[in-house]
Amino acid sequence: MSGEWRDSIERAWDAVVATARRTASEGLVVGTSGNVSARVGGTVLVTPSGVPYDRLRPEDLTGVDLEGNQVLGTMAPTSELPLHLAVYRNTGAAAVVHTHAVHATAVSALVVEVPSVHYAAAMLGGPVRVAAYARYGTDELAENMLTALRDRTGCLLGNHGTVTYGASLDEAYDRTAQLEWLCRLWLTASSVPGRTPALLTPEQLSDVGEALKGYGQPRGNR
Ligand code: 13P
Ligand code: ZN
Repeated sequence: MSGEWRDSIERAWDAVVATARRTASEGLVVGTSGNVSARVGGTVLVTPSGVPYDRLRPEDLTGVDLEGNQVLGTMAPTSELPLHLAVYRNTGAAAVVHTHAVHATAVSALVVEVPSVHYAAAMLGGPVRVAAYARYGTDELAENMLTALRDRTGCLLGNHGTVTYGASLDEAYDRTAQLEWLCRLWLTASSVPGRTPALLTPEQLSDVGEALKGYGQPRGNR
């Protein structure tokens, strides 16, 4: 193993652990719920199954190839390996975040698509779908997720939680935070007795999607 490759794997592991800890410290998961992964070439670093994130050490580094064979470490990988690998095999993702964020999970039990009460939905590629329920850790759940993810960078898993991906761990994490916020907003707006929140049309959302391509600082300003 070259020193350079080893360095990039170790840096990526530190970032996976930091992101997993963030999901717990910012209230998106409780205990060992959820999981985080990042891809470095043909290797996917994943959080081990059932280990509290504050206990993860550098030597717990866990990695698999895109077929799911363990290539780094000895800890059992997350039970949601099929879900993470399905995202990497079917998208250009560099990172995947799965949580049981409470408002998002509540909404996953109420609707088949998150009502577009705010333009934040455009940050995930459009109206956010809910994948049909299947037991955690199954290929069936991974398949249902892929259907819900079509042309999106995030979805809900029915009666379970969230999945988002991105070109970096920060991007995948931010999409989870936006999705949880959007679900909380809809629950808040739709719980006012006698009132029904207005929703954005698909045209309004795709218009935002176009505008967001130029959002923030011009390239090179940061
Ligand atoms: P792991 O601890 O195996 O990652 O499982 C947590 C989870 O959220 C399963 O859906
Ligand atoms: Zn889960």
